[in-house]
Parts: sequence; C-alpha cells; structure tokens
Amino acid sequence: MTKEYKNYINGKWVASSSGEIFENTNPANCNEVLGRFQKSNKKDVDKAVAAAHKAKKMWRDTPAPKRGEIMYKVAELLVKNKEALAQDMTKEMGKVIAETRGDVQEAIDLTYFAAGEGRRLVGETVPSELKNKFAMSVRMPLGVVACITPWNFPIAIPSWKLIPALICGNTAVIKPAEDTPLTVVNFMNIFEKAGLPSGVVNMVTGYGPDAGAPLVEHEKVDMVSFTGSTQTGAGIASTCAQRMKQYSLEMGGKNAIIIMDDANLDLALEGVMFGGFGTTGQRCTACSRVVIHKKVAKKFTDMLVERAKKLKLGNGLDEKVDMGPLINDKAREKVHRYVEIGKKEGAKLLTGGNYANGKALKNGWFYQPTVFAGVETKMRIAQEEIFGPVVSVLACNGFEEAVDIVNDSTYGLSSAIYTQDVNRAFKAIEMLETGLTYVNASTIGAEIQLPFGGTKGTGNGHREVGIAALETFSEWKSVFIDYSGKMQKAQIDHD
Ligand code: NDP
Repeated sequence: MTKEYKNYINGKWVASSSGEIFENTNPANCNEVLGRFQKSNKKDVDKAVAAAHKAKKMWRDTPAPKRGEIMYKVAELLVKNKEALAQDMTKEMGKVIAETRGDVQEAIDLTYFAAGEGRRLVGETVPSELKNKFAMSVRMPLGVVACITPWNFPIAIPSWKLIPALICGNTAVIKPAEDTPLTVVNFMNIFEKAGLPSGVVNMVTGYGPDAGAPLVEHEKVDMVSFTGSTQTGAGIASTCAQRMKQYSLEMGGKNAIIIMDDANLDLALEGVMFGGFGTTGQRCTACSRVVIHKKVAKKFTDMLVERAKKLKLGNGLDEKVDMGPLINDKAREKVHRYVEIGKKEGAKLLTGGNYANGKALKNGWFYQPTVFAGVETKMRIAQEEIFGPVVSVLACNGFEEAVDIVNDSTYGLSSAIYTQDVNRAFKAIEMLETGLTYVNASTIGAEIQLPFGGTKGTGNGHREVGIAALETFSEWKSVFIDYSGKMQKAQIDHD
C-alpha cells in the first residue's frame, strides 16, 4: 500500500478537509508511485494561516538568539539525514544523486548561516542632529509569510525562504510544488524534531490554483515569497499589489556564457556542460546560450557536441548516470516544442532534438542532450526559457557584441565569461545586466553567503539568501530616544 502523507498544521499531521489526495510519481519511472499527498483547498489554507497567525506573537516574543538555537538543531538534523533526503529527492524530482546531495547541502549551509543571524540581526545606530538624543534602527518581523516553491530545488529553495523568515521572527505557511511534496514533508519532520513550537511553520500540499492561490489571497498573510515561472509570478504580483501585501519574486532566466577567443576552451567546455545539462537544464541559472567568438566557435562547438553525445542518461540514483529525466510529461513536451521552433527558425540542430527512448528510459521523461548552432539573438530559442537540456550557440565578432547579445534578454539572472584577460573580465562584470556574474566558471554554483536573484523580468528587486534575505523578510523601524527632558524639534531647532 502506498504511504499517505498529511498536511502539517499547528504542529499536527492532518488530512485535507475534502479527503482528496494526489499521487506523486518518479519522473525516471512514471509507474512508481512514491506517495499519496493531501490535495488541499481554501479550507486547509485557512486552518494553516490561522495557526501561523496565532503563533505570531509567541514567536516574535521569542528572543532571536533562541530562534537561532532551534535553527542550529534544524541544521544538525539536515546533516544527519542528508543521504536519506537526497535519495527521496532524486526519486521524486529526477536529478542525479550528486546534485540532490548538493541541494541538501545548500539547505545545511543556509541554515547554519542564517541561524547565526539570530545573534546579529544588525541595525544601525547613527548620531542625532540634536543633543541628548539617540537614533537607531531595529528590524521587525512582517507577520505571516506565505512561501510558494518550485520543484527544481525541492529543499534548497524552501530553506532559502523559511529559515530567514523564521529567524526574523515571522511565522510561515509553505505550499510546495505538486511534483516535490515529499521533500518538504521531510523538511517539516525535521522542524518538528528540532522542537520548533506548533504553528510557527505549517505546510499544505496541493495544486497551485487550489492551494497556492488562496494562500496568496488570504487577508492574514502579510508577505508572499515566490519562486517559479514568470507567468505565475505576474499573477501573484498583481494579487499582492491589490491587497497591499509585500511580495518577493524569483522567476525565470535565459542565462548565457560568453567564451572569448583567448579562453581556456577545455575549462569553458566543463562550464557549458555543467550549466547546460546539469539538473537536465532545469535550473533557473542554467546556461541556455553560449555566446562565442567566431574564431573559436567551430572548434568549441565540435568539442561540445562530442561531449553531449557521451552523456549517460538514466535513473539519478545510479552514481554513473550524468543526466536524469525532465520533471514530467508536460515539461518534456514543452522542450520538444521549442526544439521544433528552433528548427523552423533556421537554427542548425547538431545533436539531440528528441525524446530519449532506450530500454532503461522508456518509462521516464527523458530527453536527449541537444545542441543548436547558428542561433540568432532574435530567435525564440535564444529569447524564451526552455527549461530543458538544450544549449544554443551564438557566434559573435568580439567582446562588445557578446555583451550586447547577452543583455538582449527580458531576463537578467546569471551570466558568465571565459577569458584570460583580467581587464575584459572586470568590464564584463560592469556591463552584464544580471544579478549574478561568474568569471571562468559556469552560470550555476551560487553560494548562500551572497545575495541571489536577478534583474529585469527575473525578479522584483528583492534578493534571497545572504544578509540580503533579512531585508526581504523584515521591516525597518527607526527609533529616536530623547533624553534631554525638554521638547526638542528636529529640523526646526536649527540655527
Ligand atoms: P510554476 O510557476 O508553475 O510553479 C511554482 C509554484 O507556484 C508551484 O508551487 C505551483 O504549484 C505554484 N502555483 C502555480 N499556480 C499558482 C497560482 N495561481 N497561485 C499560487 N501558486 C501557484 O513554476 P514551476 O514549478 O513550473 O517551476 C519552473 C519555473 O520556475 C521556471 O520558469 C524557472 O525558471 C522558475 N524558477 C526560478 C528560480 C529562480 O530562483 N529565479 C528557481 C527555480 C525555478 P503547482 O506545483 O501545483 O503547479
């Protein structure tokens, strides 16, 4: 009998009010059902938000260092359960086990880092313009935070949102992606074992329109933190704006690696392989465009095609597998549609371009690693997010043109440049309109101690992780303490 998993509300595991459930399957073998999960609706969301609202005062009154101590316990439990978490994640999401271990490690790093903020949460003290007056700023929690998360980083992204939100004194309700609820159930178990008081964090599983939308709309939700597609993000932005809620959005990308004619091509190849085909191209920071100097374009493209053909596809639990499946059949159809669009637009398909159907692959959502050359910047495959193992190669005449091509995008998440010229590298850092830039490294591989997020259509100006996350999940209060014993008037008592 397939195991049934419940919602986590007010410290208890409870069934959905409708009694409906949905099944979670393995994308490497769609016949393998991993669990039955609650198909939540507005009633369940109401209960979860009520629990978070009730816990608000108790949690904000809990000294931040004490909140931090609980988060250290969460981090220790993540370490202890790392392998089991990674195995479950590969089963429900498909990416290879080395990458799911990395996903858990990111949550561990973030949790240790943010737990330390419990003893900092630094504000400012500044001089007052008046005598005998003290001026400072302190951080305040926002209240109840709703976290809506995608499936591609099933524990890293929930940790980016929940841990800083809780450290800042907020309570939370999370709605994980319908394709990866098991990992967030596992995360809730860890919060419970770490002794987080009831109601501080709550989880409802289910579908976006049924459970996500009522959560965003709920009048007692003060802030929404969302990662996912631009389309869903735009809807959330409009709901939040109408209700005067705060919201932070992390959405799509169309990331590029520039390869100059002086680049170490072997090193650049490693970067493109990891960025283009890691996580089966389903990272928001995936390298989907290679902008390469025409002097080395042919040589590099041959090297890339040769390596792409050698990638071993299969179940990500097998340590020898390089690339797992796509998340579901809809995602695979979408990738294939873009390949057809690319061919019609006149791009040259060099390898891949179809479903991967070997014997061991036939029950999974596998797609061949695909490389297009002769891609022009106006083509849809150079502009729109494909979210699959498809790399487009665009040739350029020099550095300035390369930068223009990269910047000719409605997104602005990640970029990279391979060059031996330090002046050019610094110029690229200055000119590339993205939230992340790498030099002689791939577009993926951010570390949690620096801000993460993008410009233009990728986000709305907020950043996650690092100290920047505190800005996203807290509000400033400015405090003035007058110890002069008399009425002093700022700006007016001015001579
Ligand atoms: P979606 O936007 O479809 O889903 C993201 C989350 O939103 C899921 O939990 C989803 O639920 C939920 N959701 C869907 N509709 C609504 C709604 N109307 N109201 C509230 N919540 C809703 O994105 P995907 O899960 O398909 O993720 C892939 C996309 O996310 C890609 O475009 C990718 O670039 C982007 N992404 C961006 C990242 C970044 O940091 N910039 C990181 C990771 C992904 P359900 O699962 O049930 O549909």
